[in-house]
Amino acid sequence: MDTEECIFCKIVTGSIPAEKIYEDDNVIAFLDIAPISDGHTLVIPKRHFNKFHECPSELTSKIFSKLGVIAQAVSDAMKCDGYNVLCNNGIAAGQLVEHVHFHIIPRNESDGIFNSWPSYSYPEGKAGKIAELIRKKM
Ligand code: 5GP
Ligand code: ZN
Repeated sequence: MDTEECIFCKIVTGSIPAEKIYEDDNVIAFLDIAPISDGHTLVIPKRHFNKFHECPSELTSKIFSKLGVIAQAVSDAMKCDGYNVLCNNGIAAGQLVEHVHFHIIPRNESDGIFNSWPSYSYPEGKAGKIAELIRKKM
C-alpha cells in the first residue's frame, strides 16, 4: 500500500484527526473510531509497515516498551476487569488497515465479546510434524 493512502499514516501526520492518547518519536496511540468497547485503543508505530514481522526488532521493542504502559492506563481509566491485546496480520486474520497496529480492548466479565476461541486437538503425531516445519523456518 502507498503510505500516502494509508489512513493511519494520515493520523501520524495529523492530516486526519484522531483522539490521541500517547505520542513519542516512534509510537502513537489513539482511540479506535469504531470501538468494540469503551476505551478501545490502537497502538501503532509511526513508520508504515504492513505486518508485525516486517517491523525491525528495534522498532518492535519500542512498541512493546509502551504497549504495557498504555494498556495499564486504558485499563485503569476504564476500570475494566481485563483487556485483550490483538494484532491482526493479513486479510485472512481480519486486518483491514494495512499499517501494523495493536488493539487494546477493555473487557468486562459477561460482556459477551470473544467468549471463546474455536479450538481442537491435534491427531497423534501431527503437532510434532508441524512444530518441526516451523522450527526449520526459524
Ligand atoms: P484491523 O481490522 O485492521 O485489525 O483494525 C483496524 C481498526 O482501525 C478497526 O477497529 C477500525 O475501527 C479502526 N479504524 C479504521 N479507520 C480509522 C480511522 O480513521 N480512525 C481511527 N481512529 N480508527 C480507525
Ligand atoms: Zn501507514
